[in-house]
Amino acid sequence: MAKKTENFCSFCGRKHSETEMLISGFDAHICDQCIEQAQIILKEELDHKKQNKDTIPSDTLLKPKEIKAFIDQYVIGQDEAKRVLAVSVYNHYKRIYQQKTDDDIEIEKSNIILVGETGTGKTLLARTIARMLHVPFAIADATVLTEAGYVGEDVESILSRLLQAADFNVEAAEKGIVFIDELDKIARKSDNPSITRDVSGEGVQQALLKLLEGTIVNVPPQGGRKHPEQKMIQVNTKNILFIAGGAFDGIEQIIAERNGRNVVGYRAKDHITIDKDNLLQYIAPADLKKYGLIPEIVGRFPILTHLDPLNVETLKRILIEPKNALVKQYIRIFEMDGIRLSIENKVLDYVVEKAIEFKLGARGLRSILEAILSDAMFELPSNEHIKELTVDLPYAESRLNKATGKLTIQVA
Ligand code: ADP
Repeated sequence: MAKKTENFCSFCGRKHSETEMLISGFDAHICDQCIEQAQIILKEELDHKKQNKDTIPSDTLLKPKEIKAFIDQYVIGQDEAKRVLAVSVYNHYKRIYQQKTDDDIEIEKSNIILVGETGTGKTLLARTIARMLHVPFAIADATVLTEAGYVGEDVESILSRLLQAADFNVEAAEKGIVFIDELDKIARKSDNPSITRDVSGEGVQQALLKLLEGTIVNVPPQGGRKHPEQKMIQVNTKNILFIAGGAFDGIEQIIAERNGRNVVGYRAKDHITIDKDNLLQYIAPADLKKYGLIPEIVGRFPILTHLDPLNVETLKRILIEPKNALVKQYIRIFEMDGIRLSIENKVLDYVVEKAIEFKLGARGLRSILEAILSDAMFELPSNEHIKELTVDLPYAESRLNKATGKLTIQVA
């Protein structure tokens, strides 16, 4: 009689007697340990798939027109910047999700510089894009950055913020967006490079280059200075989209000079008319270099666009049109106390006029409205008889005049 051979696990080869349990299938067996192992692999794989789904599934990547339509809900005007941003964001995520091909075509990164007066919507644009993509978003202020070893923050702190925004999910952070505000403030202080140490200018630009290039950076998880004993997290910046913003005060002069020369040079052939009220629309990389950005930094931000100054009409639209427009927010605040708030059209014009007068741009709209409505927000919740508040011009003027002292202090 033939001796019955002992079954064994088809995966690890352990004999039945060496396992706790051996489960038989059609033509194979699996032991308890291999089941456990398979379960771990399965979980990891499913988690990974889910995570990718939570970020940006490449098959549902929004097209540039759809991206712009999304931004339109939150940002008024700035059409040129929106179009440029929509295209570069679209290409950026195409680049991340492109299938590996063997033709060596690698799409390069499209970091962006937004040039525009303060309060025209640069941060809002970057924030809105991050909101749309559901990717981690961090804002870094270039003015606090200094060259390593000097008082201030190392450039790596930018990535610490991104990691914090991503709840320390490194993979998510590596696909995030960083907005570097006030890039103009780290411009070289003189045309002559490095005659003296320029720790908060050229030195920082050099340090920033490293992040922009796409390398693996050791990031202190809590930000601040690096300590030798602190545990570092490695972050690859290859797929992080950097959007920088700056007002570049005085750059109009550089643009005008450059265009002036062009106009003179080609006057015979071309009649170039230049809109002197919005010179930023003609900005070119050469102007940024002349302003004090090192050529390598300008090269790492291949996309350059501008924001238009906000005029009366745009400011008024900002008050009422965006999805979370200020007026809508105040209506909601009063609604929660059962009060119907309405603000007369003349009041909106007045608010805009004051924002321009105080030179606050869109940023001022909120403090002015707050000042006008502050008393009502204090009094009305305790008054059961009032169910409606109509803000007319005399009321708005009286409230704002009363608060103007405070407003100036707040603004200063
Ligand atoms: P910047 O970064 O250019 O200095 P922000 O994006 O921080 O300006 O804008 C300041 C505030 O002004 C925003 O929170 C937003 O409420 C408002 N704002 C500015 N520009 C616009 C715009 N074009 N559309 C809608 N709101 C705007």
